[in-house]
Amino acid sequence: MALINENYLKLPGSYLFAEIARRVATFKEAHPKADIIRLGIGDVTQPLPPASIEAMHKAVDDMASAETFRGYGPEQGYAFLIGKIIDHNYTQRGIKIAPDEIFVSDGSKSDCGNIQEIFGTANVVAITDPVYPVYLDTNVMAGRTGSLQTDGHFAGVVYLPCNAENDFAPSLPAEHVDMIYLCCPNNPTGTTLSRSELEKWVHYARENDAVILFDAAYAAYITEPDVPRSIYEIDGARDVAIEFRSFSKTAGFTGTRCGYTVIPKTVFGKAADGSRHSLNAFWNRRHTTKFNGTAYIVQRGAEAIYSTAGQQQIKKTIAYYMENARIIREGLGAVGITAFGGINAPYIWLKTPNGMPSWDFFDKLLTEINIVGTPGAGFGPCGEGYFRLTSFGNREDTLRAVERFKTLKI
Ligand SMILES: *Cc1c(COP(=O)(O)O)cnc(C)c1O
Repeated sequence: MALINENYLKLPGSYLFAEIARRVATFKEAHPKADIIRLGIGDVTQPLPPASIEAMHKAVDDMASAETFRGYGPEQGYAFLIGKIIDHNYTQRGIKIAPDEIFVSDGSKSDCGNIQEIFGTANVVAITDPVYPVYLDTNVMAGRTGSLQTDGHFAGVVYLPCNAENDFAPSLPAEHVDMIYLCCPNNPTGTTLSRSELEKWVHYARENDAVILFDAAYAAYITEPDVPRSIYEIDGARDVAIEFRSFSKTAGFTGTRCGYTVIPKTVFGKAADGSRHSLNAFWNRRHTTKFNGTAYIVQRGAEAIYSTAGQQQIKKTIAYYMENARIIREGLGAVGITAFGGINAPYIWLKTPNGMPSWDFFDKLLTEINIVGTPGAGFGPCGEGYFRLTSFGNREDTLRAVERFKTLKI
C-alpha cells in the first residue's frame, strides 16, 4: 500500500466553515422558521463589473473563429493583462516592476498556498495570529512544522500575536525566522500595518536574510491615504518581499478566478552550499511545470477592470461594501461592543462581551438574534475572545442585523 504524507494527519479534523455550517443546520432544523442573516462568510455578493462582463462576452466570440481563437497562453499570463497590472498598481505609485516579475494565476489562495514549495523545509516560518488559515495549513502539509500542541499552537512555528493590546501590529520575533507571512489589510481583523510598521518588517527581513510573503488581497479596500497599497512602497522591499494580489475581492472574481503574484528578480534564497538563487526563477519553473495559464476569457475580464468604466464600477461596489462596514462598526459601537477594522477592509473584528469564548458568542448570536458570524478562534489562538463580521452582505440585511444587535442581551 502506498504511504501517505503523514503531515496531513497533524491538521485538525473539522474545518472552520464546515463546523459553522453544521451548527447553523442544527439550529435551522430545530427552528425552521428562523430568519437567519449571514455575516460570516468572506465571499462577495455583488455581480461582476459590467466592463468585465462585456470584455468576457467579446472574448468568448474570439474563441469562435480560427483567426482569433486562443489555445494555451503564456503560463505567466497574457501581456495585455500584465501591462495593465503594472501600470495601474505599480508604475502609477512610483514602483518599478518588470513584466517577467508578474505571474498571473487562477487566484491567490493557490499562490499563497503553493509558494512555500520553492522554500526548504528547514526554514522557520513566522505567521501573524490570527490570520487567513492557508499559510499555516500549507506549511503543516509540507512538513515545515511539528504537531499541534494542546494550547492550539503548532510546534516549530513562530506565532506573532496581534490583538487590541498591540493595536494589531505584531512585534518582531525574538528568534531568527526565515519566512514571514503578513496579510495587510488583514483577514480576519480588518486592520492594517502602517508605513512605519512595514518598514520595520522590511528592515528585519533585510538584516536577517528572511523573505516576506505579503498578501494584499484587500489592497483595493484601503481608504486611508497613509496605508501602503503594496509592500513595494517600502524602500528595500524589492529585495526581500513577494506580493500576492487577487481580483476576487477587488472585482468580484471569487467564482471567476484570477490573481497574480509579484516576485522581483532581486529576491533570493540560498542553497545549503551557500549559493544564492533567484526566487523568481524558481517560481517561474514551478509555475510553468505545474500550471497551464488562466483562461483567456477570464484574463480579458480582469483586464477590463483597469478601463475607466471598470475602475468606476469596482470603486462603486467597494464603496457599497464599505458603507456596510461603517454601518456594522457604528452599530456595534452604539450597543457598547468594541470593534476594530472596517475602515480599510470589509471585515469587522469585535471583542466578545465579557471575554466570552468565541464559539459561545457564535451560539449566542445564532440563537438569540439569528445572526451568523465567524468565531475568532477559527483564525488562530489569538483570535479567541474575538469575532468576525463581514460587510459583504446586502444593505438591507446589514441594516436589519444592526437593529437586531440592539436587542442582544450583553
Ligand atoms: C479571499 C482571500 C484571498 C484571495 O483568494 P482567491 O483565491 O484569489 O479568491 C487571498 N488572501 C486572503 C487573505 C483572502 O481573504
